Amino acid sequence: MRKKLVVGNWKLHGSLLNNQSLINQLKQDLHGLNWVDAAVCLPYVYLFQAQQLLQDSPIAWGAQNVSQFTEGAYTSCISAKMVAEFGCTYTIVGHSERRALKLESNQIASKRLLHALHAGLTPIFCVGETLDERDGGMAEMIVKNQMLNVVYGLDDEAFALAKKFNMVIAYEPVWAIGTGEHATPEQAQRMHAFIRYMVSERDPEFAQQVRILYGGSMSPANAQSLLSMPDIDGGLIGRAALVAEDFVEICR
Ligand code: PGA
Repeated sequence: MRKKLVVGNWKLHGSLLNNQSLINQLKQDLHGLNWVDAAVCLPYVYLFQAQQLLQDSPIAWGAQNVSQFTEGAYTSCISAKMVAEFGCTYTIVGHSERRALKLESNQIASKRLLHALHAGLTPIFCVGETLDERDGGMAEMIVKNQMLNVVYGLDDEAFALAKKFNMVIAYEPVWAIGTGEHATPEQAQRMHAFIRYMVSERDPEFAQQVRILYGGSMSPANAQSLLSMPDIDGGLIGRAALVAEDFVEICR
């Protein structure tokens, strides 16, 4: 049985004051909810604050990305090693909002993935198709191409790290992100099963272990139907993660 994982992706939101009250509320309301793993991914500048507030709690924290570089003359980049110093368990990699800005091709996403693993982080590797790609019948092909980074792009050493640190995959159809229009449980389940099948081509045992999250307008209203699907192991939550009651309700 895979334990469910619910991760908040705060995106470009937050302030020292708001974070403190949101985190304290989550700590209080998620207390004792031990059938689910919960985490928040915050802007880099708040990782220290998250570490201070969450270090004695079961809620984990993480970054929203890491650089494709490890060190050097790369102004404004933040490396995986740096975020690991702030106690991060997770980092998101390959989020569609990064891919859409054209800053992150499949190749770059796979470099970031590699650095995250070498820094001992658990990557949450995002895949998903746009509406045009879905309408054009290409959803599976797009996701397959993105997944190839994970399935064949990692050498044996990196794949062993992916297993060791329980790499997570998030299926986030781009058309569902921030739109209020979520994938149906059946649509999501079909893609999750396909993703698991792809992992099984490389490692059947890990395929049974790997947690595949759904992301894209998950809310208290639809979480139960999505999360009851056999291959949906949790959620990557944007908007609803900014409201403590909503995030807690999804975890429940
Ligand atoms: P959303 O965002 O829940 O606001 O759709 C999800 C995500 O982008 O990870």
